[in-house]
Amino acid sequence: MSRQVAVIGAGLVGAALSRRLAEAGLEPICFGPASGPPYSSHDDSGRITRILDASPTWATLAKRAIADYADVESRSGVRFHHPVGVLWSARSPRPLAELAPVGSMLGVETGTGLGGWEGIAALDQTLLERGGAGYIAPKDMLRAHRVLAERGGAVFDARVVRAVEPIDGRWAVRLRDGESLIADRVVVAAGAGSRDLVEVELDVTGEVVIDARLAADSGAALADLPCIGRLSSESIVDGYLTPPIHGAGGWSIKFGAELPETITLDTADTVAEWMSGEAHAERATPMASALRELLPGLEFGQIRSRPCIYTRTPTGLPIIDEVEPGLFVVAGGNGRMAKSADAVAALAATLLTEAAWSDTELDRAQFAV
Ligand SMILES: Cc1cc2nc3c(=O)[nH]c(=O)nc-3n(C[C@H](O)[C@H](O)[C@H](O)COP(=O)(O)OP(=O)(O)OC[C@H]3O[C@@H](n4cnc5c(N)ncnc54)[C@H](O)[C@@H]3O)c2cc1C
Repeated sequence: MSRQVAVIGAGLVGAALSRRLAEAGLEPICFGPASGPPYSSHDDSGRITRILDASPTWATLAKRAIADYADVESRSGVRFHHPVGVLWSARSPRPLAELAPVGSMLGVETGTGLGGWEGIAALDQTLLERGGAGYIAPKDMLRAHRVLAERGGAVFDARVVRAVEPIDGRWAVRLRDGESLIADRVVVAAGAGSRDLVEVELDVTGEVVIDARLAADSGAALADLPCIGRLSSESIVDGYLTPPIHGAGGWSIKFGAELPETITLDTADTVAEWMSGEAHAERATPMASALRELLPGLEFGQIRSRPCIYTRTPTGLPIIDEVEPGLFVVAGGNGRMAKSADAVAALAATLLTEAAWSDTELDRAQFAV
């Protein structure tokens, strides 16, 4: 088997990149399972999308990605964007003030008040982000990119890659089942799994999300309220929630929070153990208390925790780089990549197709391995 380009990882970055490469006429093959543990950090229906960020680079990437959502939705026929807004809150004015320069630089639309959370949420200082801010359904976004990628000639192959090796000026993609594919260029976009395939400095941490059930009437009534992002004094998002989302089991609010102690997952085995084990359940009770403290005006039903992973880089920015001729890496979501995956994929696609960095706004060096 031989191909011009192979993309490893069919997560949000891999799928968006496969679409962009297919639309550039390259007919890529994209390896990896579309859903499920042990690897992915996209496998649910709620990820916050917002431009406001203390990092101007992440904010710029988000602005670009959000600007393209409507086009991807209408061409694929798959809706994934819910622009309900994001209500930022903090215990002191400083973290919100830190967002202001980026907000005015990028012309971010804001509103006033609590966006409908009045009488339900206990919040002090707030800032309401409007425009395209809100949440995306990552599974649906992934499907939208796949539909367009396949339409453009991309092939998706659910098999897992064991290794990538140089071979006569090209690259051999070795699959776990023993087969191989030879490609001129390979892009590793395998999230946490990227460090098992190429030499990159990525720290993987275990994270926890809870899904808190709501009665049908209150779920439907609150579904268009903004997401809430709690900022700590360092402008880190230390707690966030979506409004109620309707899924297979009914209405539920998704709540996430940075864990007080870091759970470092050093190897592929520890990642797999975290994703398939029950250790996340230890966080369910304190996280449920934090959620009740934030939304004292709501009655919750069953609360269930789920594991997830963050892939972090030393710079806090994603890696978009050619590590060896023909071998590219696009990884390092740092907890913010879902919403911006397509903008990151656009930079990677240009680097691969034009063999150059043509972006004048974002400096290439900040994305280097
Ligand atoms: C709890 C939680 C909340 C988050 N909240 C937000 C949010 O509100 N907003 C936001 O923008 N982002 C958020 N993120 C971050 C976001 O989900 C990730 O940054 C994003 O999904 C990363 O995309 P990715 O494609 O790089 O990696 P992934 O989504 O992890 O995809 C990587 C893919 O590669 C595959 N793979 C791995 N190894 C191999 C291999 N050897 N062979 C083949 N395939 C392989 C995996 O199966 C997976 O499908 C959150 C993350 C978590 C964990």
